[in-house]
Amino acid sequence: MSEPINPESTLLYPPIHKDKKFVVLSDWDGTITTYDSNDYMTDNYGFGKEKRRQGNLDILAGKDTFRDGFRKMLESVVANGHLFEDCKRILRRDIKLDPGFKDFYAWCKEHDIPVIIVSSGMAPLIRAVLSNLVGEKDASEIEIVANEAIVHEDGTWDIQFRHPSSGFGHDKSQSILPYRALESPPTLFFFGDGVSDISAAKHADVLFVKEKPGGENDLAAYCIRERIKHVLFQDFSTALSVVQSIVESKKTVEDVVGSSLA
Ligand SMILES: [Mg+2]
Repeated sequence: MSEPINPESTLLYPPIHKDKKFVVLSDWDGTITTYDSNDYMTDNYGFGKEKRRQGNLDILAGKDTFRDGFRKMLESVVANGHLFEDCKRILRRDIKLDPGFKDFYAWCKEHDIPVIIVSSGMAPLIRAVLSNLVGEKDASEIEIVANEAIVHEDGTWDIQFRHPSSGFGHDKSQSILPYRALESPPTLFFFGDGVSDISAAKHADVLFVKEKPGGENDLAAYCIRERIKHVLFQDFSTALSVVQSIVESKKTVEDVVGSSLA
């Protein structure tokens, strides 16, 4: 599948952080949260887990695009009568934070390292869950680059993709590449777990791939297939020590990712 190199964005980007030595970009669903909220809605309120997993595997195998597969998942939730506000309420109730994320975020903030959420989910749902989990203050400070939701008068809804011309729907490389183009680019850490991160996988300096229970290691499978170096992590507390070792110059990027495909 060929992808447009610079897909037109229907949504704005926050300004990039110039003059930083390190920047963290992270997927939201299933990476900062313990369970992917869109998978959760689809598994429990849409067409179910079996069909959703098959959809993920079809994306991984290149039989469907992320954009189209993801839209089918969300449409199955709407088709079952779940209005946008219901989804928000359910997710605020049921979605949990990675146990190490708060400390990870606090440490990054203390060390002047921006943390940017780069998500294929919908920004209003992410904000609603985030404010519930980390509090209003941190939730309003964290930058989110995501898709949007179009909520109709009757409460039904659709996803609005950031990059509708891209098969990724939201091409996450577009959040990374402007940093690469800076005169002195920062060291870029990217965190992800699934098929929504394929567009970002090869562009970071250090790619952290979350280890998932139940064999849903789609990003790890993709990285192994495509020979993309990565660091597996269980939660943000283990990732923090790796990030610290690089930031404190105890290890190089090469030390950390060098042997990951050996
Ligand atoms: Mg994810």
